[in-house]
Amino acid sequence: MARKQALRRWDVTGKHKLEQVEYKLPRLKAGEAHLEFIANGVCGSDTHMFCTGAVHSGHKGPHEPLTLGHEIIARVKRVGSSVTTLKAGDVVAVEPGLPCGTCPHCQKGRYHCCPKTLYMATPPQNGGLADEFYWPAKWCHVVPNAIANDPVLASLAEPLAACKQSLDLRNKMVPERDDDEWTVITGTGAMALGVLAVIKAVRPDEKVMVIARNEEALQFATDYGADKCFALSQVNPNKIAQAVRDELADLVATDHFDHSAASDFPSAKSKAGKLAMEAALEAVRAARSRGAQTETILNELHEAARKAAEEVVVQENTDVFKAAQKHASGFISSVFECTGDERLLVTLINSRALLANGTIIGLGCHYAVSFDIAMLRRFELSFQPVRRSCQQFPSTLKLLAEKSAYFRRLVGGTVSFEDFGDYMAGKVHKTDTGSGGPKIVVLR
Ligand SMILES: [Zn+2]
Ligand SMILES: [Zn+2]
Repeated sequence: MARKQALRRWDVTGKHKLEQVEYKLPRLKAGEAHLEFIANGVCGSDTHMFCTGAVHSGHKGPHEPLTLGHEIIARVKRVGSSVTTLKAGDVVAVEPGLPCGTCPHCQKGRYHCCPKTLYMATPPQNGGLADEFYWPAKWCHVVPNAIANDPVLASLAEPLAACKQSLDLRNKMVPERDDDEWTVITGTGAMALGVLAVIKAVRPDEKVMVIARNEEALQFATDYGADKCFALSQVNPNKIAQAVRDELADLVATDHFDHSAASDFPSAKSKAGKLAMEAALEAVRAARSRGAQTETILNELHEAARKAAEEVVVQENTDVFKAAQKHASGFISSVFECTGDERLLVTLINSRALLANGTIIGLGCHYAVSFDIAMLRRFELSFQPVRRSCQQFPSTLKLLAEKSAYFRRLVGGTVSFEDFGDYMAGKVHKTDTGSGGPKIVVLR
């Protein structure tokens, strides 16, 4: 049946610019499937591309529009001449990475580490938030019948495949576990709660602790099966530094400065605020004594206040990790680091609290973490980062079908394909599923 309307897709065309653009498809190649969009889970990286205009360090060259979406469920419309694994009408989960197939990683079956991988919705590879698109049939996985009519649930396959990858890596490193051992997850984003879901679906008796900042999301984690939750420091160094700067701005311009004490100011009421104010006053005195300009003084006091507040965060988080260790009677055999927060990972390692033995799995991007490697040696720890999933789609889809009601709670809301642009711009709200889960799914 010929399509009357032009094909449309959602392209990032600049910073905070998302446009529905029309496009045409080229000829279908022999190994490709022609797919029709059904659903797509919105990922943190989509938001990142939207905010940065799909340009980030490492991707050089002129700016090109980028189609978003890489957690795609689609229906097969037709297949290329050499495709035997799919037929028209099949509902598929799209594995979004296209490895080169010839490099040593690909040859050894570690295709997820192929350095030449083209990944959906990452420049220069367009994503699948489009009416129709082509994708190699090899990377389309048929969704089991039981959940083929539940594309919102099925769209969890892509993120949960990465969570399952991390669990499999952990199980390789910690194959045997006693009943009194604990597992820690840091964070309450989609990946963190996905790891919790996969662990609890596969090994309900494993004792899991979730440690994160967001108290509302920690409540969800508790309801979702976490055995214990701890809230991280609520101190916000940037906010405190800004308040301190605002309060000192007028004074810095006067000569009455030297008589001021930290306790004179409202932001010094909290412990972090007081230390930040003291550090800021000290910075002002130092800058003034060398005759610095007002703007320089303001910048230096801001930085000093932020640093002082950050030290409070580190101290409070260290205390939280120690309390977690105490709760686990000192024996935590694996940690899934899912915040991607460099400072938190360093605090975690330096605290020595969560490191009874075992392993730390990093699911976020820790670009600039530095820590004393002796900390790893002390407990014979391993640090295992996770890139993305490898051969996990079929087993993840099976798991979703087996525990569909449980996994579905991860989806907190849906948005229509038409409304996606307005949703990203904050003009339209999600349709709430009522579960309180972290995932938002775009639905045809
Ligand atoms: Zn993603
Ligand atoms: Zn390769």
